[in-house]
Amino acid sequence: MKLVVVGASGRMGQALIRIIAETEGAVLHAAVERAGSSALGKDAGELAGLGALDVTITDDALSAFVHADGVIDFTRPEASVEFAALAAQARIVHVIGTTGCSEDDQAKFEAASRHARLVKSGNMSLGVNLLSVLVQQAAKALDAAGWDIEVLEMHHKHKVDAPSGTALLLGEAAAAGRGVDLKDKAVKVRDGFTGPREAGSIGFATLRGGSVIGEHSVLLAGEGEIVTLSHSAGDRSIFARGAVKAALWARDKNPGLYSMLDVLGLAD
Ligand code: NAP
Repeated sequence: MKLVVVGASGRMGQALIRIIAETEGAVLHAAVERAGSSALGKDAGELAGLGALDVTITDDALSAFVHADGVIDFTRPEASVEFAALAAQARIVHVIGTTGCSEDDQAKFEAASRHARLVKSGNMSLGVNLLSVLVQQAAKALDAAGWDIEVLEMHHKHKVDAPSGTALLLGEAAAAGRGVDLKDKAVKVRDGFTGPREAGSIGFATLRGGSVIGEHSVLLAGEGEIVTLSHSAGDRSIFARGAVKAALWARDKNPGLYSMLDVLGLAD
């Protein structure tokens, strides 16, 4: 499968180039960066520490997509929306790992998925997707009157969105377990005199610092006991491996917007 990596010089872009090189059935077809990037004209393999791959980083996404089978995209929301339209036009698979997307962006991805195969997830790792299934079960089993749910996350200091896409994914799983809409229950910020905690709310706490790749815990706090479900990412390759797997999986699927739970066979 001929794959394009957009955001090729980013942290995830470089991890993707390394994982594609070691994945049977996948080949790096093109590497794209934004106009003006200092990475333009460089060899994508050299930038990722692999040695030359004869793939020069370009800012011409449309030409890169035309003869490809799929694009893997860990960039910025506004860029992912543009890439979704181009990928739909080129009729290729689009795997989106970008987080911090708005409801408006999501509506555009849904529109693109009428004609294209999109896989989008706030976390592409097997471990976090399994964790989300366990969180949904725990939230269902432990009633809202007696158990309070809090999602805690920490990431490196360069991260630009909060709460993380993974924290929101885990919050959605908890809300699904309780049969409620996360939008109505989420408490993303607490400051000053907040009053007591509202029963049934789902709280988020965000930590940023250093080079932490991704730490997530979901705490279910009852009277006299706490259940903690957590995941620790030690290496970005777990997300890159999941994204490449998603691209290969989506290749023969019908148009639609899929999640990593679909790819991993964990959707109910
Ligand atoms: P990063 O190092 O900042 O990489 C993003 C790359 O995208 C940068 O090289 C950036 O270029 C490039 N870019 C921005 N706009 C572009 C455009 N219009 N065209 C082409 N390239 C463009 O960030 P990261 O740590 O790799 O993370 C990227 C995204 O993935 C974030 O949203 C992050 O939260 C998410 N993420 C998701 C998962 C998951 O499993 N779903 C896992 C890890 C990270 P410039 O720097 O030149 O602007």
